[in-house]
Amino acid sequence: MTKITGAVVLARALKQQGVEYMFGIVGFPVIDIAAAAQAEGITYIGMRNEQSASYAAQAASYLTGRPQACVVVSGPGVIHALAGLANAQQNCWPMILIGGASPTYLNGMGAFQEERQVALAAPYSKYAHAVEHVARIPYYVEQAVRTSLYGRPGPAYLDMPDDIIQGKVEADQIVTTGTVGDAPRSQAMPEDVAAALAVLESAERPLVVIGKGMAWSRAEDEVREFIERTQLPFLASPMGKGILSDDDPLSVGAARSHALKEADVVFLMGARLNWIMHFGLPPRFAPGVRIIQLDIAAETIGTNVAAEVALVGDGKAVAAQLNAALVRRPWQYPKETDWRGDLRSQAAGNLEAVAKMSNDNSSPMNYYRAYRDIVEWLPSDAIIIGEGANTMDIGRTQMFNSGPRQRLDAGTYGTMGVGLGFMIAAAVVHPDRPIIGVQGDSAFGFSGMELETAVRYKLPIKLIVLNNGGIGEGVDTLPPDGQYPGTMLTTGAHYEGIMEVFGGKGFYVTDPADLQAALNAAMAFPGPALINVLIHPKAGRKPQPFAWLTT
Ligand code: ADP
Ligand code: MG
Repeated sequence: MTKITGAVVLARALKQQGVEYMFGIVGFPVIDIAAAAQAEGITYIGMRNEQSASYAAQAASYLTGRPQACVVVSGPGVIHALAGLANAQQNCWPMILIGGASPTYLNGMGAFQEERQVALAAPYSKYAHAVEHVARIPYYVEQAVRTSLYGRPGPAYLDMPDDIIQGKVEADQIVTTGTVGDAPRSQAMPEDVAAALAVLESAERPLVVIGKGMAWSRAEDEVREFIERTQLPFLASPMGKGILSDDDPLSVGAARSHALKEADVVFLMGARLNWIMHFGLPPRFAPGVRIIQLDIAAETIGTNVAAEVALVGDGKAVAAQLNAALVRRPWQYPKETDWRGDLRSQAAGNLEAVAKMSNDNSSPMNYYRAYRDIVEWLPSDAIIIGEGANTMDIGRTQMFNSGPRQRLDAGTYGTMGVGLGFMIAAAVVHPDRPIIGVQGDSAFGFSGMELETAVRYKLPIKLIVLNNGGIGEGVDTLPPDGQYPGTMLTTGAHYEGIMEVFGGKGFYVTDPADLQAALNAAMAFPGPALINVLIHPKAGRKPQPFAWLTT
């Protein structure tokens, strides 16, 4: 018999479980894992920072619908990658983090990069385990993949000590496992489906909120049918955008605050009443708002506001149940109601306020002026990655998505630094699509070295940096005491030069009149390009009825 190493056993098990992509940074003791993965036909992408690798693995998981892998070295490598585990957990995204570990026979001795990795990963994971035997690697991989994917998705961690990676086993001694199929889809109770429709029928000012749980469950056809049948006004969450097109006449995205505040019934479809949805509480929601909640995780039902009806099940399956009930007993929210009129006029008012800013050609420009040209230029099949404070918040409202899973951003955890990892993952998973990133200058700084990764793998991402020289606001004059404010970054930093030194193409735009030409030239360039756009340090959002992050 021939003996094979733990690295090979691991790579084969990952391949068997449908892992197609592995992102990481190699070093002791995981070099052999990356090589073995490549030998099995898994695409390996070597990154520059473990956080980015971990972010890339979860974006690839969300985009493909299966857990993808990240591999990092022991100790500090795992510590850095924890950022990605936490982000995946908060977003309910799967991924498998594989951490190298010091050899088991040196445990407790102060070995090189020895760390309590399983204990550290556990709070951020659905599953965290150390592999203790080469022959049992496939067992742990199957558990990790299944736990990560089934139910509410989330990350899994596997600890791979050096002696397990290097250890050898006879091929016929290796534990065999089943292959994890796609997640089983569970339905809600039929009486709850009927109750949900009855509550919607009784509403005067109904609102459907479509979240990324529906995007994850690939429920776009069913959700579209549900909205077409019921004609209900809907609001997409940031990453729920595109399940129905943002330009759908029933979308109330342009009247978001008003729609949330005045609705008497809110139907949450795969979305949570967390900070992004202002907890479902006054003053952002009406007191006593009635909630219908569709979610795969029963334990999340009733968070912050008790749900009147709970539809516990898979988004695609439950939306299909609702549609089937509507076939049997059709119902539509009336075409002309005060609520529809109210939402329309709110939206019109908001669009007018924005139009003023979009048409302001002063230099340096404001965000809305920059987005005017970006939006005109954006291809409709682009995957859009948005990150930053104003850059992301304004970008959500300006850049429309016409298809599902075409938007990735700082998400539930509000993580800055995810952007380049997400862009790289999107470019690897969707080589046929334009990958467009729009980052603030602060957000760019967290993972800017990944430009080298993009150039090395010839990933033709187009990254726009909206550069206001600061975190949130920039600084136009130093305070009298001469102290640098904590929000201050270099004004007019030439970030496009970083792209150029690696071999991509850079553009620096100060006058709005030059933006369109730079965007077109970046798109025409066959490789990665960075368009650095100077934004007025004091530019902001249009006036908001509530301060950012208000309850
Ligand atoms: P958003 O940020 O878009 O509002 P959240 O991340 O807050 O979305 O909520 C997504 C919700 O979707 C989570 O509560 C999660 O449990 C749920 N979810 C995940 N997978 C599914 C699925 N297959 N079907 C229904 N709901 C799901
Ligand atoms: Mg900034």
